[in-house]
Amino acid sequence: MAGLLVVISGPSGAGKGTIYNSILQRMPEIVKSVSVTTREPRGNEKDGVEYFFRSEEQFDKMIESDGFLEYANVFEHRYGTPKKHVLDMIEAGKTVMLEIDVKGAAQIKSKFPSCVTVFIMPPTFAELEKRLRDRATDKEDSIVIRLSEAKTELSRYKMFDYFITNDELSDAIDCAVSIIKAERIKTARNENKILKLLNE
Ligand code: 5GP
Repeated sequence: MAGLLVVISGPSGAGKGTIYNSILQRMPEIVKSVSVTTREPRGNEKDGVEYFFRSEEQFDKMIESDGFLEYANVFEHRYGTPKKHVLDMIEAGKTVMLEIDVKGAAQIKSKFPSCVTVFIMPPTFAELEKRLRDRATDKEDSIVIRLSEAKTELSRYKMFDYFITNDELSDAIDCAVSIIKAERIKTARNENKILKLLNE
């Protein structure tokens, strides 16, 4: 793999979206991937910015044409990572970052073992529940489902390379940025550079 593929994942309400956007602000050279979803846009969301909003039929067509790197059902809707853009950018040596659910992260890790997977989790489940309630976007039954799903997601912790506790947001962002910086300078990812130096 020429570039670096970073996967930010974790339960709903853990703050992974906020952390993802903050990493992009701090490291503007990172390429983001815009996912395809069958859910309706919320608030000011625009097609092609937060997501590509597509019908169920269009989503099926993308599956048939092998257009996804991964896709999964997340709370009643479907979400998928378009394949071509991510592969092209990695081929070009860029760092590409995905913010996807744990089922999607598992698919990416098995296809690309050298990708870097990061799990984001609040300090406790009680705190996760509080955050889900505070954001007030979910109804009671949906909060219960999200909490039980969160346990299942955390139980898959072994496929993640890093585990960030999102207690103090700025610390969690610092950790994520440090991970990406350290991964980039791993010897194994820099062999070409090293061999070039040896040939000077
Ligand atoms: P939301 O609808 O709130 O934007 O996102 C719901 C969930 O879908 C979040 O957990 C988010 O990480 C996940 N998600 C967003 N895009 C993708 C994707 O392309 N693939 C997968 N597997 N999950 C995604």
